[in-house]
Amino acid sequence: MTHAVEVRDLHKSFGDNHVLKGIDFTIEPGQVVCVIGPSGSGKSTLLRCVNMLETPTRGKVFVAGTELTHPDADIDRIRRHVGMVFQQFNLFPHLTALQNVMISQQRVLKRSKKEAEIIARENLDKVGVGAKCPAYPSELSGGQQQRVAIARALAMNPDLMLFDEPTSALDPELVGDVLTVMRKLAEEGMTMMVVTHEMGFAREVADRVVFMDGGVIVEEGTPSQVIGAPQHERTRTFLKRVL
Ligand code: ADP
Ligand code: MG
Repeated sequence: MTHAVEVRDLHKSFGDNHVLKGIDFTIEPGQVVCVIGPSGSGKSTLLRCVNMLETPTRGKVFVAGTELTHPDADIDRIRRHVGMVFQQFNLFPHLTALQNVMISQQRVLKRSKKEAEIIARENLDKVGVGAKCPAYPSELSGGQQQRVAIARALAMNPDLMLFDEPTSALDPELVGDVLTVMRKLAEEGMTMMVVTHEMGFAREVADRVVFMDGGVIVEEGTPSQVIGAPQHERTRTFLKRVL
């Protein structure tokens, strides 16, 4: 079977800052993998290497069997199948929610305006903000903006969704709505890689949890193994701080 994601001996340096020091892991289609670990451990860099927003210094990255790190890889074509949701929602402030979800469909997938609008409305409904189509980002709460950002990614029909701390910028009372949407996506079988500090979400939804520290994977396993019965002192120390 082809892995949804395969990372082999991945290294990334920024100047002489060696951030990723040999990462190996795979994600199978339909799996949810949560990546946890202290700030600065390289979680965002790893996620960004998976869709080549950062170019690895060494090692290989495959998405759905295609090597992104190959010199001849058509990165844009592969990236079209990968949705990314950031901590900061990155919506276009001058476009409405509906327009934010339409624009890449029209520009990248060359969908007609009519088709893009139908798909945008479907996805905004799906994440519970269908009534906000005409609203501008500044008129939406953080939780609503993040759900628009998720709808925007989903409208591109991704095979894989990458989330980088999608709830970290939200007021606590708005976190639940976003996690509910992510839980629903997971239940529908979406392949997801989620960097998060939400241990409740990781416990409930993740098939696997990966604990990173200092640019390496310290341990990985099921949520009950890594969160429930961590084997390494570094994992225990981290969990004591976030739980
Ligand atoms: P995490 O997401 O786990 O907090 P990051 O991947 O953001 O960690 O950062 C890991 C290290 O890489 C940090 O030391 C950070 O300063 C460095 N880093 C990340 N992105 C860049 C960049 N674009 N340029 C230089 N250094 C970076
Ligand atoms: Mg980060």
